[in-house]
Amino acid sequence: MLLKLTVLPGDGIGPEVTEQAVLVLQAVADGFGHQLQLQTKLIGGAALAAANDPLPADTIKACLESSAVLLGAVGSPAFDHNPGHLRPEAGLLRIRRELGAYANLRPAVFFPALEDCSPLRAELVRGTDIMIVRELLGGAYFGSPRSIEGAPGSRVAVNTMRYGESEIERIARVAFELAMKRRRKVLSVDKANVLECSRLWRDVVTRVAKDYPEVKLGHQYVDSAAMLLVQRPTDFDVLLTENMFGDILSDQAGGVVGSLGLLASASVGGPVGLYEPVHGSAPDIAGKGIANPLGAILSVAMMLRHSFQLEAEAVCVEKAVSAVLSQGARTADLAGKAHAAISTTQMGSKVVEAVKAASH
Ligand code: NAD
Repeated sequence: MLLKLTVLPGDGIGPEVTEQAVLVLQAVADGFGHQLQLQTKLIGGAALAAANDPLPADTIKACLESSAVLLGAVGSPAFDHNPGHLRPEAGLLRIRRELGAYANLRPAVFFPALEDCSPLRAELVRGTDIMIVRELLGGAYFGSPRSIEGAPGSRVAVNTMRYGESEIERIARVAFELAMKRRRKVLSVDKANVLECSRLWRDVVTRVAKDYPEVKLGHQYVDSAAMLLVQRPTDFDVLLTENMFGDILSDQAGGVVGSLGLLASASVGGPVGLYEPVHGSAPDIAGKGIANPLGAILSVAMMLRHSFQLEAEAVCVEKAVSAVLSQGARTADLAGKAHAAISTTQMGSKVVEAVKAASH
């Protein structure tokens, strides 16, 4: 198969982790007899620096002509004082919209080898396997009007949380379809006691659930869901929620399973899937060669599964990651006191070797 992709390394640790993810993808392609065709484009701070635009037209065109997009991360303190449309993050929000990627799938799976990495006791976190389904194109991140107005000292800021029934219905269907292939449980997370958007959300999700009688649907307020996520993470199967709640809860899930650096994501629903680690550009560790590349590498596994329907190849990458962790390979975020930390490139090379061993 021809695997035609655009790579958007982005900012901070983005280029460091995507480099390793691409090497792993190349190893899988070689091992399974696929052809990889790559082009690299600018997004975020890197694009602002080069073209004063966080998402140049040429980047959008390349992405739309690809079968899938691999993104590193965007965000750079150098642009913190820019107006909203000239911030790196504006490029990220726009590429999601340009690709029509309304369904953000964020698995949080506990690796048995990492029992010592979770801040939770092993008996609580063991067996955690959550699929967070986050609505990605609506809610407060996209709603208008949005503004900061007024004179310093008396400024007023406005954001708008907005959801339409069709937006809720289509993401709910994604969650129920995924639940059918898993443990058949959907927990819909909202704030229906306070927000109108959440009341509509709950109403529509309940209606959609009638088409999936085999799936057990529950509803939970976001504050109590946050608590349950640390108290009983193994109770969760599919967690369905809106854009901002999903953003927050998925980082929390990363903490639960050991490190944000482990979490992968797929943003699907449009013509071209977008795959990226959950973490940001991590300016505090950028350039040091210590970032964990496993979230980016596992995003490649999600790409193989969701954009190319290459299940055996996806499993090969996931097993390779699991194997290197079992062998004791740890980047600094996972090393703790018991392990010596290896670099980003060393971790990537170990996964490449494991993929080669499994696929030849
Ligand atoms: P972050 O995810 O970049 O970092 C949070 C913490 O986790 C930091 O201490 C960082 O060192 C650590 N961390 C993150 N990824 C890691 C990895 N792979 N290996 C080891 N440690 C890792 O979040 P932040 O610091 O809040 O944001 C930094 C910038 O990233 C901001 O500009 C923000 O807007 C942007 N951001 C981008 C995305 C994205 O591109 N999808 C997501 C979140 C934040």
